[in-house]
Amino acid sequence: MDPFQAYLVYSSLAVALLALIIAAYQYRVQRTRSLATRLQSLVEERTAALERLNQELQRLTATDGLTGVANRRRFDEALEHEWRRAIRANAPLACIMIDIDHFKAFNDRYGHLQGDACLRQIAHALVSTVRRAGDIVARYGGEEFAVVLPATTLVGAKLVAEQLRTDVVKLKIQHDASATGPHVTISLGVASTVPRQGVAPATLVAAADRALYQAKRSGRNCVELAN
Ligand code: GH3
Ligand code: MG
Ligand code: MG
Repeated sequence: MDPFQAYLVYSSLAVALLALIIAAYQYRVQRTRSLATRLQSLVEERTAALERLNQELQRLTATDGLTGVANRRRFDEALEHEWRRAIRANAPLACIMIDIDHFKAFNDRYGHLQGDACLRQIAHALVSTVRRAGDIVARYGGEEFAVVLPATTLVGAKLVAEQLRTDVVKLKIQHDASATGPHVTISLGVASTVPRQGVAPATLVAAADRALYQAKRSGRNCVELAN
């Protein structure tokens, strides 16, 4: 091989090598880019899934597992929130406390599972009637429910309470062991106030609870108003 031929061979080899290096580099760049894109969409996917999970978790921590209505914790938060809002708006805020009549006797007569089904039916009846924006129905504990009605006077809340009482009567859930009647009934206590700074929201609940106690003493399946 003469020197010129050698030069041609070596320079061709050098060019081929360079082209190979450039192709390999471009391949790496492209691969890195597509990996980055895949990684980014994976991150977005996982973030969205986490967000959904978080929302579901928040819903679960605010919901009563048996009845699906708000739980006590959510009720306390909502009451506090509406109380502050009512102070700013100088508006009334009403609360209805509800207790199922002779429910221990119901459980004893029909069993705990039927008792649970009854709680679910009543919760469903309550939320079907109380549905204005800002209204909240919660399971306050055991067989007690609580309702908060923003911008509602005692007269307005009494109408809602009466409606709830008749809604439950209309369910006609058999209760042979009740001393009040042949079906399951509820007693309700109603209170309303224009909240003031420095007064605790618990005072509204306490007033509605006293009225509820009065409803029990008045013979049950009735609505009593706080003084
Ligand atoms: P009153 O008319 O005075 O309200 O009488 P009551 O029997 O309803 O009241 P009491 O407080 O004596 O009994 C409440 C009953 O509610 C007792 C308890 O077993 C029942 N209870 C509370 N939570 C649940 C629940 O999650 N499921 C069922 N099935 N029963 C429950
Ligand atoms: Mg009770
Ligand atoms: Mg009861």
